[in-house]
Amino acid sequence: MTHLSTLRVNGDRLWQRLMAVGAVGETARGGSNRQALTDQDQAARELFLGWARDAGCSVRADAAGNLFVRRAGRRELAPVMTGSHLDTQPTGGKFDGILGVLGGLEVIETLNDAGVQTDRPLEVVVWTNEEGARFDTAMMGSAVWSGAMTLEDARALTDRAGVSVGDELDRLGYGAAPPPAPHEVAAAFELHIEQGPVLEDAGIPIGVVTGVQHMSRHRIVVEGEECHAGPTPMALRRDPMMALARFLPELYAVADAHAPDGRVTIGFIDARPGSGNTVPGRLELTVDVRHPDAGRYDAMVWACEAAVAEACGTLGLPATWTRFWHAPGVTFAARCIDAVRAAVAITGHDHLELVSGAGHDACNVAPLAPTSMIFVPCRDGISHNEAEWATPAHCAAGTDVLLHAMLHAARA
Ligand SMILES: [Zn+2]
Repeated sequence: MTHLSTLRVNGDRLWQRLMAVGAVGETARGGSNRQALTDQDQAARELFLGWARDAGCSVRADAAGNLFVRRAGRRELAPVMTGSHLDTQPTGGKFDGILGVLGGLEVIETLNDAGVQTDRPLEVVVWTNEEGARFDTAMMGSAVWSGAMTLEDARALTDRAGVSVGDELDRLGYGAAPPPAPHEVAAAFELHIEQGPVLEDAGIPIGVVTGVQHMSRHRIVVEGEECHAGPTPMALRRDPMMALARFLPELYAVADAHAPDGRVTIGFIDARPGSGNTVPGRLELTVDVRHPDAGRYDAMVWACEAAVAEACGTLGLPATWTRFWHAPGVTFAARCIDAVRAAVAITGHDHLELVSGAGHDACNVAPLAPTSMIFVPCRDGISHNEAEWATPAHCAAGTDVLLHAMLHAARA
């Protein structure tokens, strides 16, 4: 038997499978369109399940359409889990999610080839509707599995044509499967492309992901009074734009005060009535605030809200601040992060420790099982785009790290 630390995945086989899945629902510009629970999504799942069965794995589905592929361990213990998603955005890429699923299968194939048995079973999961593109709830399947969302609420989600998740689950044969329920998991790892530019910029192939940042989005509405742009002297106006001119620099100053990790984004702004010669009577904008550290994140939100209140108060303009979206941050389990660090040491790859700027299925697994993530670079940091690209070498490097992290965690 090969010495375990010298074990490496078959990068060619992994790449061929990435390209084969990417060809299902392939777009004209080389991306993929496999939205959740479509025939294309199902075809990619069948392709994956065929390979998994050929690799000797047992296969089960739950009523949310989540797929669990398992390689038996030496003992009947809680498994080491990995996986991600096979669905894509309408103009998605070949790597977001898919690498995490096929990387998990490649770990199993590599162990089969080398004749290595693990104490614990290994499990590869395909979570349903991670993207939330067709049905507007991201990370749906993992949320239902974890209990963060009910199956009934998931089934009731509809796409723009009025077709429900429930209709599609029934049509594709998942409706009769056992209801989703979390099982005991010894450790969980998710391999994913970074979806940002940090690793590529640093020229480093592996990200050891220590958590997911705190994020929330807020709606600000400032009320003023519409009046004519000509006859009304500046001093007599009730102009919400004057408040904006005061608080906008303050919002960016909050991000600066929490650099380099703080993020403040004003992504939407609307003045009414929207006429060039009328002082607006109403201003609406959104502020997205993010930081990996809970205390600093809270401080940023508080400072942004205070800056808006101060500017509007000074001008005597009524203003409201409403949080309409919130994703609490996640701190991954120290022992899973340590397992990834140990795997990085075995494989000899350079690495950076970083915090994910986006949400992943791992966020739903983390409250129930020790969890962490591994990132690999993607070209120009681009994702959710047909141009999304990761190199064969980086895909293989990330999967090697996944292999050794899973081996580490699979010891009884
Ligand atoms: Zn993803």
